[in-house]
Amino acid sequence: MSESSTYSNCSPRYCECGSEIKRRTSWTDLNPGRRFEACCNNRKNKRGLHFFAWVENETCPRGKEILPGLLRRLRGMEDELRATTENFILMEEEKNKLEQKLREEEEEIKILKKQNLGMGQQVVVLEGEILSYRQRQRWFWVVVLLCFMIVIFFINMDDLVV
Ligand SMILES: [Zn+2]
Repeated sequence: MSESSTYSNCSPRYCECGSEIKRRTSWTDLNPGRRFEACCNNRKNKRGLHFFAWVENETCPRGKEILPGLLRRLRGMEDELRATTENFILMEEEKNKLEQKLREEEEEIKILKKQNLGMGQQVVVLEGEILSYRQRQRWFWVVVLLCFMIVIFFINMDDLVV
């Protein structure tokens, strides 16, 4: 396990490199919960170049036995919590997308309803036109019939004259 630690406040002291020395707590398997003081620039691969000193004695055997397992469980729980949170965020996003889609579809239905209404009005207008066309057609045939009768009448008159 890599070295991990938590910072805590203390009166400022400085390393030879000029960086502040801070008291921290180790959470490695070897030194779980053991406090130390180290330069802020101190990293695992640079130990020796910067200030480093344990503040507390080595963690007791019982602590070494129990703490790493507890830490792993804690980290597992943290991972689980993170995964659950991410899942929740994804679900929230999915929900938002679905709501957006629903809104769009509602909008589309509104438009379609309006179009439907417009078409209904058009049908009414067309029906009116068909009706007036039929009436005009009826009158046309009436006129044609009248003309025909007049022609017949005059032909008959001619016959009478001759
Ligand atoms: Zn240093």
